[in-house]
Amino acid sequence: MEFDVVIIGAGAAGLYALYRVRGLGLSAKVFEKGDGVGGTWYWNRYPGARCDVESWDYCYTFSEELELEWEWTERFPTQPELERYFNHVADRFDLRRDIEFDTRVDRARFDDDQNRWLISTSNGQTVSARFLISAAGCLSEVNTPRIEGAENFEGRQIHTARWPQGGIDLTGLQVGVIGTGSTGVQAIPQLAKQAEHLFVFQRTPQFGIPAQNRPLDDETLEELKHNYRERWEFKRASSTGMGRHPAEVPAALEVDEATRTQAFEASWARGGPGFARAFSDVMTNAQSNQIASQFVMDKIRGKVTDPAVADSLAAIDHPLGARRVIVEIDYFETYNRPNVTLVDVAADPITEITPQGLRTTAGSYDLDMIVYATGFDGMTGALLAMDIQGVGGLPLRDKWADGAGAYLGLVTSEFPNFFMITGPGSPAVYSNVIFSIEQHVDWITDCLAHMADHDLDRIDADPDAEAEWTRQVHEIAAQSIIGKTDSWWTGSNIEGKRQGITFYLGGTNTYREICDEIAANGYEGFVFSESTSPARA
Ligand code: FAD
Ligand code: NAP
Repeated sequence: MEFDVVIIGAGAAGLYALYRVRGLGLSAKVFEKGDGVGGTWYWNRYPGARCDVESWDYCYTFSEELELEWEWTERFPTQPELERYFNHVADRFDLRRDIEFDTRVDRARFDDDQNRWLISTSNGQTVSARFLISAAGCLSEVNTPRIEGAENFEGRQIHTARWPQGGIDLTGLQVGVIGTGSTGVQAIPQLAKQAEHLFVFQRTPQFGIPAQNRPLDDETLEELKHNYRERWEFKRASSTGMGRHPAEVPAALEVDEATRTQAFEASWARGGPGFARAFSDVMTNAQSNQIASQFVMDKIRGKVTDPAVADSLAAIDHPLGARRVIVEIDYFETYNRPNVTLVDVAADPITEITPQGLRTTAGSYDLDMIVYATGFDGMTGALLAMDIQGVGGLPLRDKWADGAGAYLGLVTSEFPNFFMITGPGSPAVYSNVIFSIEQHVDWITDCLAHMADHDLDRIDADPDAEAEWTRQVHEIAAQSIIGKTDSWWTGSNIEGKRQGITFYLGGTNTYREICDEIAANGYEGFVFSESTSPARA
């Protein structure tokens, strides 16, 4: 089978890429390893899973009709609502007919002579395509740490991103959760309500800002519909792709303590991921950051009745925002329940999993079930899980052995006609991701149109332009508080992975301007070849 374009993944990125590619009149096929659409929101069915970008921002903007007809029910929508949304999009734009579900892309090899990609899938087929687009996701490759003895555990073990459709009945069960990142923090309050007893194995305490979630009433929905165009303008102007008025705020160090506390309280009461934006310098000035961090740690302590538990939760050793700030609902209060035990595995590390449960250096815990809220091999995991080979059979794994780099995060040299949506070097996860996805897909499909108009067959990145872009990405990251501690953001959660931030922190607005300018200047830094091959589909 031959296609103009093959797209890997049917999450937010794959669906929109298919829609736009079709709009160019090109033939396309999407391969999706799951049996439904939605990607993140298909796989992450753990209790409590929800978005922490507001619903009115975390949605497509490409279709006015879609935006006006869809009605969100909450400020921060749940996984079931988001999954419904992506199913609605797939049906509304008739996307399913070009998606092959339950089909994993295992290998993609660039055939230099034919100027085509040969794509092999888990069901034994090989198809060819002029262009290959990865929409495989920044957070889709699951990370389950290898803990000695895990294979002998007699109970059930499950990663949160593999929670089954239909859920799991936890009634009467002793449940252990490993991990207190965004996922663990969302899941723990819900698991605690269902399990007989919940043991939380925490290695690193985390900052948590209350979501202050709320249902959306008719008046709010009306206002959202009325203002959607204005919000879109703000999204484009903002550095993270959020549709808020950019507030004019002073630096924390410019105001007195009472004013500061008042502003932090107001930001706390508003809730959500914007807490640090109470002042302009929280993410750039260590002293301001320390003040904000202390405010949050004091709030955490105030929520937990047992002082020793409060200490374990609030003794945070990294600056606010160095890791992804977590948005929580009833997380800290959950530790006041009699059926919840916090186990500090920084002090007493996990040593092994036994047939009956889990052992740390300090004790043993009998468990019926172990939940791994242990995250993902972010940014590059899904790409490198496939065997992608560029010119001369160069494996992507080899090319990126010393660190991932791609020009604008879109194209990596020696892998012609291969585009990545939210790839390493783009703002990706440091943004309202769905808005970044739209920008990437628009740029890629505009580029495909440009190539068709100019009879160009092949696009690659100039290695020098790519190296310079990667240098800039690292330089900007080095100046920021973001990433100034270990986490999946730096790749430190994966053994042997090269560490460092691989996403562009210069702002989504600046990034968009750069991408647009490069395209307007004849795609500076990209190398095109004119059409010579007869191999067009
Ligand atoms: P995904 O949604 O990950 O989709 C990728 C798809 O590709 C998956 O369906 C996967 O099965 C498929 N795939 C991967 N490899 C292959 C292969 N080899 N063959 C075939 N198919 C393959 N972002 C925000 O901006 N705000 C949030 O609040 C937010 N919350 C999140 C909550 C969770 C629990 C997680 C895990 C992530 C969250 N994110 C959030 C990030 C989220 O991943 C993005 O917002 C967005 O959903 C990514 O869409 P995507 O299509 O790029 O990738
Ligand atoms: P994560 O942030 O990487 O957290 C993984 C957790 O597992 C950490 O607490 C980690 O501890 C722990 N862990 C891993 N291996 C361990 C081991 N061997 N022993 C003990 N603890 C171990 O993963 P995540 O929570 O799934 O979140 C990943 C990203 O997905 C988020 O940052 C966010 O981008 C996205 N997400 C968003 C939301 C949302 O609110 N919208 C919800 C879920 C996920 P250490 O910290 O000590 O390593």
